[in-house]
Amino acid sequence: MRSFRLTEQEMNDLADKYPTPFLVASLDKIEENYDFLQRNLSRVHVFYAMKSNPAEPVVQKMASLGACFDVASAGEMECLHEMGIDGSRMIYANPVKTQQGLQLAARYGVNRFTFDDVSEIDKMAAAVPGADVLVRIRVVNEKALVNLNAKFGVEPGEALSLLQQAEKAGLHAKGICFHVGSQSLAAEAYEEALLVCRRLFDEAEALGMPLTMLDIGGGFPIPSAEGLSVDVAGMMQAIGRQLDRLFPETEIWAEPGRFLCGTAVNLVTSVIGTKQRAGQTWYVLDEGLYGTFSGVIFDHWTFELESFKHGKKRSATFVGPSCDSIDFVRRDVMMPELQLGDRLLVPNCGAYTSASATTFNGFAMAPFLIWEEEKPAQQHVYKVASAVS
Ligand SMILES: *Cc1c(COP(=O)(O)O)cnc(C)c1O
Repeated sequence: MRSFRLTEQEMNDLADKYPTPFLVASLDKIEENYDFLQRNLSRVHVFYAMKSNPAEPVVQKMASLGACFDVASAGEMECLHEMGIDGSRMIYANPVKTQQGLQLAARYGVNRFTFDDVSEIDKMAAAVPGADVLVRIRVVNEKALVNLNAKFGVEPGEALSLLQQAEKAGLHAKGICFHVGSQSLAAEAYEEALLVCRRLFDEAEALGMPLTMLDIGGGFPIPSAEGLSVDVAGMMQAIGRQLDRLFPETEIWAEPGRFLCGTAVNLVTSVIGTKQRAGQTWYVLDEGLYGTFSGVIFDHWTFELESFKHGKKRSATFVGPSCDSIDFVRRDVMMPELQLGDRLLVPNCGAYTSASATTFNGFAMAPFLIWEEEKPAQQHVYKVASAVS
């Protein structure tokens, strides 16, 4: 599956029109990703994890495709509400919810929650009596870039007692959820989690508390600077087979974030300075760790940097524009020699990038362009013409 990627010409045409840095999002690519997921994992009902990219055009695109939404805060619910998205299309999937969040959930009709501790039960029951609840279990996965199981999820052995207590408090114990960790490179992590869930579903049935919903979370991977070592279609199909085998009747939800939006956005950034340090050239970019490259810190991400230049490659280091020395985008990258004003294309910039960017040091956040609105109408014509010449 290919990422959205501007050509050199397309990048330069846009950069002649808009000052760098800027982001270019392809809504068609988001649709392609959504269709890919639905095709390879056809039983899942998608709840887009909007924390990965809450930009309005992205969210509206997901809504138009029929997605529901995974929200984690009052702010995210408010944001969806203002875009006209009903609370019945949301799951409040933060195991620990704020009072403000619970009040908004009650107001907007959000009545699906996840939790992983007894202390959450009375909070949910007081705010939204009779709500549907899923208990989040901890799963083990060494093959994920971002481990979410250090902070979230109860040990499987405690899950059913929590659901029983939720029932007693007047909530509806509906099922189980898990998250194998973000950018997971293993289908096995899901397959093993599903085995644990099956055992819990059987035990719940025996306790007279039949469960009907299973939420397999997010975690599906996209290419980084190192590419992508797994076949995502194969991975999704393997999960699908395990679901058919173990959960033929159960309603299945998933909460993908990165997979849906990550490959749909490019950053265009320029070299604004150079330095010679210990025999190596450093390039100072007009975008850094406090902006789109925030994923370096928060998401442990390694960004691909494409210069479109030819020539002998040398080891170089890329830093951002701020006056903070944490602001290293990448060290020791093999790169042809660059000049001031040269532009770099950074693909796969759609998830956990702009979402966690700041305006630290007065650097504005990179604006967001929509490719399908920007692309020249006659583009198709000159592509054919250049192929002929
Ligand atoms: C972050 C998160 C997701 C999305 O994870 P991806 O790896 O981006 O697919 C889904 N569900 C929950 C509860 C999350 O915290």
